[in-house]
Amino acid sequence: MAKKITRSVGKELGKIKNILKKGKVICLTGAGISSESGIPVFRGKGGLWETYDPETYGNMPGLISVFSKDPEKLVDFVTEFYNVLLKSKPNPAHLSLSYLEKSALLKAVITQNIDNLHQQAGTRSVVELHGNAFRIRCQDCGVTLTLEKDRIKEMLVLFHRARKSRKEVLKILSRYCPRCAKCGGRFRVDIVLFGEHIPEEELNRSQELLNDCRTLLIVGSSLVVYPAASLPLYAKERGAKIIEINQEPSALTDICDYKILGSAAEVLPEIVRLLD
Ligand code: NAD
Ligand code: ZN
Repeated sequence: MAKKITRSVGKELGKIKNILKKGKVICLTGAGISSESGIPVFRGKGGLWETYDPETYGNMPGLISVFSKDPEKLVDFVTEFYNVLLKSKPNPAHLSLSYLEKSALLKAVITQNIDNLHQQAGTRSVVELHGNAFRIRCQDCGVTLTLEKDRIKEMLVLFHRARKSRKEVLKILSRYCPRCAKCGGRFRVDIVLFGEHIPEEELNRSQELLNDCRTLLIVGSSLVVYPAASLPLYAKERGAKIIEINQEPSALTDICDYKILGSAAEVLPEIVRLLD
């Protein structure tokens, strides 16, 4: 494990350690940090997104058109999507970040992931740029509710039974995404789909965190999805050092001060060991 890092960053590891030791670290994570938890990345081989084209299944008009043509297809997609998430557990990369937060070096994680794994790993300060699949949100007033794992499992069983009937599938959907008790609006899953805006509050919180950040650690993101991909430059302009951990170069590798080529679940625990 250590060899892999030493090979890729060589003498720079000592410098990286000294930088991280100074604290005020913010970590920006992408799908790559969860790939070793069994959740496939968008742009990688295999998994959900090879079977289901994200161009169709990643946005609301696409999902609505799938449903109106063939409700069973939508049920299959929702089932596969949640089955992957329900099975996943935090891996050593998520756990390492949680450890760094406890040791007060890491101030917060800003994530593009919707899988709730940072929270499951015990990280407290998490900004979710793209929402969370285990939450529903009122489309009118914005109030949110947790969607418990058992409720999701129950919903999937009912969906499966009703999958051939559009009317029955809709009935189940409105049971799990009901009307808001506060304003009467309709709940939906709290995920930012393609073509939708990142909640302003989350983006503002991210920028506030980066205003007072000494080091931005970027883990497992291709950095092609905006506005999340604008955050490294924002941090750099404010004087932060940028360290990237990725299995391959990202779109912004060139602006990084240090690059560690490797798997997040191997590299992050190794960094934690060095810091201890
Ligand atoms: P991406 O799929 O575009 O890129 C993933 C990146 O992770 C790649 O650069 C890849 O080289 C790297 N990577 C893969 N495995 C790795 C590993 N084990 N260790 C280190 N790096 C690894 O992901 P993105 O930049 O986050 O953007 C994709 C969008 O898809 C985001 O908006 C995100 O919300 C969404 N998404 C989320 C999840 C999730 O919640 N887990 C999964 C898939 C997609
Ligand atoms: Zn409401």
